[in-house]
Amino acid sequence: MTLLNKLNNKPISVHVTTMGCSKNLVDSEVLMGRLHSAGLQVVHERRMEKADVAIINTCGFVQDAIEENISQILEWISRKEHGRIQKLIVTGCLVKRFKEALQRELPEVDGFYTMDQAHLLVRDLTAGCSPAGQPRRMLSTPSHYAWLKIAEGCDRRCAFCTIPFIRGKNVSRPEEELVEEAQWLARQGVKELILIAQDTTRYGLDIYGKPQLPSLLKELEKVEGIEWIRLHYTYPDKVLYQVLEVMKDSKKICHYLDIPLQHISDPVLSSMRRGHTKALAADILKQFRRQIPDVAVRTTMITGYPGETEQHFQELKEFVESFGFDRLGAFVYSPEEGTAAAGFKHQVPEKVAQKRMEELMELQKNISARLNSRKEGKVLKAIAERKEGPYRVMRSQYDSPEVDTEIFVTDDGTLENGQFYHIQITRAGDYDLWGKPVQTQP
Ligand code: SF4
Repeated sequence: MTLLNKLNNKPISVHVTTMGCSKNLVDSEVLMGRLHSAGLQVVHERRMEKADVAIINTCGFVQDAIEENISQILEWISRKEHGRIQKLIVTGCLVKRFKEALQRELPEVDGFYTMDQAHLLVRDLTAGCSPAGQPRRMLSTPSHYAWLKIAEGCDRRCAFCTIPFIRGKNVSRPEEELVEEAQWLARQGVKELILIAQDTTRYGLDIYGKPQLPSLLKELEKVEGIEWIRLHYTYPDKVLYQVLEVMKDSKKICHYLDIPLQHISDPVLSSMRRGHTKALAADILKQFRRQIPDVAVRTTMITGYPGETEQHFQELKEFVESFGFDRLGAFVYSPEEGTAAAGFKHQVPEKVAQKRMEELMELQKNISARLNSRKEGKVLKAIAERKEGPYRVMRSQYDSPEVDTEIFVTDDGTLENGQFYHIQITRAGDYDLWGKPVQTQP
């Protein structure tokens, strides 16, 4: 059934924009699936002349994101004023944090809905004819990979983080539901599953009373058609020793570990209320590197956290230098309203925090170049992502989409997106690699 716009008797068209993280993208996909099955014509982030309704699924966890999202909303308000859209709806994390203020300041917006009010948004847009049951999500990623959100919310209380206040406590999805979704995704042609949550290591604690991530990984391995399973957003937690056992014996789980550490110096970790020590984090990383020597480790660090001294920062730099992360992102601490750390003494001047971030990224650039150069001559299994000029851009199991290294392969016209190839690396840059297709197995 198609819902028609009474004014022009055409299907009601909805344009969705997603801001922020991959978890938000999955929320948009679920929302789009519901709108689509309710009879609306839905597009995601495509250039468009006109649409009846525009929905912005916002992010709001740090100041920079808030500013970026507000300017996005203002852009759409101007499109509405120019008649390119009839209705503007705003949903997501920014609404969860600042609904009243947004309603007061932005009366041009037709509706503000938090993510847990998606059913009301669908009802209001479809004049009450919401679809029965839980329609399938509408995938927005290239057809060969998809995010699998295994839980929502977070039980931890890191002193700098707003996410628990926005997304609530950790709520895991039942294992059988996730396996069923993975099977459906495989039938859609998905070959790579990327597991996400605020903290994937706490998966299952709420519904099974014990960490269930290792078991979930084993079940997902059995899903036919899925060739790569990638783990994101882990936390320095003892369950990772079990994950290591599953990963090292697996043919499908990528040798890839995304583990945002935020810092490494114990006094800073304790002030951040991270609930773990340098020793635990260091040992987990050492065990992964020792038992899976080619594992790619990704992390993020915060510089300029309240109370961070030059000595703490030197300790962080030494650790980054000695361990050698394959991927590292550094962010300047952002004091967020409502978080404990925003009220802490010894706030570090922005200039110092910025300089430390730049120093860390400069160090990481050299580390990345060094680690990349070791790949020259090697043959890697890679999946083709997209065409770019003379190249077919690909990723190996060591690279996650949108955030990591890419491999530029000269395309002789025979290479196809979504297919796996064996690529011999011919040149290594600071971050990216270049290569050519070869017949032989890695
Ligand atoms: S684990 Fe991550 S999402 Fe949870 S409170 Fe800490 S930083 Fe925030």
